[in-house]
Amino acid sequence: MPSRSCAVVSGPGHRGRATYLRELPVRMPPGCQQPPGSLLAMTTTTTQSGGAPTFRALALPPARLDHIRQTGTDDGGNHPLRKVTAEGGEPVRCCLRIANPGEELLLIAYRPFDCPGPYAETGPVFIHVERCEGYRESTQYPEQFRGRPQVFRCYDAAGNIVGGCLLNATDEPEVVIAELFSEPGVERIHTRNVIYGCYMLEIASVA
Ligand SMILES: [Zn+2]
Repeated sequence: MPSRSCAVVSGPGHRGRATYLRELPVRMPPGCQQPPGSLLAMTTTTTQSGGAPTFRALALPPARLDHIRQTGTDDGGNHPLRKVTAEGGEPVRCCLRIANPGEELLLIAYRPFDCPGPYAETGPVFIHVERCEGYRESTQYPEQFRGRPQVFRCYDAAGNIVGGCLLNATDEPEVVIAELFSEPGVERIHTRNVIYGCYMLEIASVA
């Protein structure tokens, strides 16, 4: 397997990631003892080549989506929710697959963090109108999302960005994920679309 140079991007004005980490002390917001993503429920464990578990691929948590559907208000305060009929090809984040033409979806603003913070972005995602089967079989990076360029952003336990890299269409996601988790302090990775920046899924480290 070819070696891949996965450039770790640090913040503006910082010389490198180690410096970046020193200048961003880890602080958990008051009343928030859980790391980002800890509420995510639809999880399974991934193994590579039959070895030890390495990461979990996380769809959006069903309970949070149920709350948004029931209240009719999304994480951006939009009410009512916007319904759309899929043209086909929309990435659906409740089950991590591509929509078929004609499927009924909601286009909602979603914040993939449990706690507020400067890096806790809110952005648009497609989900199914009703609770679906989720991502039960996800022992792998989502097959239907392979070959799709992504930005992989790394976060520490407090939700601070601690690097990231660009996944090209021909890259093996598992290789890139392993490289990123080999960096100190990386607890989870959010994958986002390259042009629009829309959140796709979370990859959590299995310690
Ligand atoms: Zn779904």
